[in-house]
Amino acid sequence: MDEEGWFSVTPEEIAIRHAGRCTGHEVVIDAFSGVGGNAIQFARKGCHVIAIDIDPAKVALAMNNAKVYGVEEYIDFIVGDFFALAPSLKGDIVFLSPPWGGPSYKDVQTFTLELLKPVDGYTLFKVAQAITPNIIMFLPRNINLEQVAELCRLSSPPLELEVELNHVQNYLKGVTLYFGSTVAAPPRFSIRM
Ligand code: ADP
Repeated sequence: MDEEGWFSVTPEEIAIRHAGRCTGHEVVIDAFSGVGGNAIQFARKGCHVIAIDIDPAKVALAMNNAKVYGVEEYIDFIVGDFFALAPSLKGDIVFLSPPWGGPSYKDVQTFTLELLKPVDGYTLFKVAQAITPNIIMFLPRNINLEQVAELCRLSSPPLELEVELNHVQNYLKGVTLYFGSTVAAPPRFSIRM
């Protein structure tokens, strides 16, 4: 783990919940894999993971972490820009834990999709949707849910959505959005047109 990794990595119990939505034997693309916290849990569930990060140092740490967990053979590590790679990627689920812009997400009352880096959330979602409608997004706890609902409405056909609030020791750490087949049945919250 590097210094940034400590606040960027998804807490393990949340990564385990995310991985619970894959059925195993599926290919999961982890678009911003960082030090590998999510990729490792998807691999532990029996998925094949394509773990992408633009920073070679992060990928080296992720490879080491995957070895510690004994799952390195289930993960293909790629150093690269997700947006450049996306048109050539195939997968059953895309997992997106994009840069929130560091801890400053806490300074705004409502975190809008425009604040995501390096591109806004609408563009990011469109890029992921070109791969598959089965998308899991992990976002700040103050994310604007009206904009999220708009993401579903703008999709053709409109996508089903489940919103999960992720608490760690009674602290709301983030919000997970499940789209497409990653929605649990029966859905807790769905939008239909
Ligand atoms: P946070 O703001 O949540 O701390 P970071 O800035 O640490 O997020 O970014 C999360 C991860 O995404 C980092 O490991 C970073 O290297 C990676 N990353 C950023 N841009 C891209 C990109 N275009 N393609 C792939 N990985 C990226």
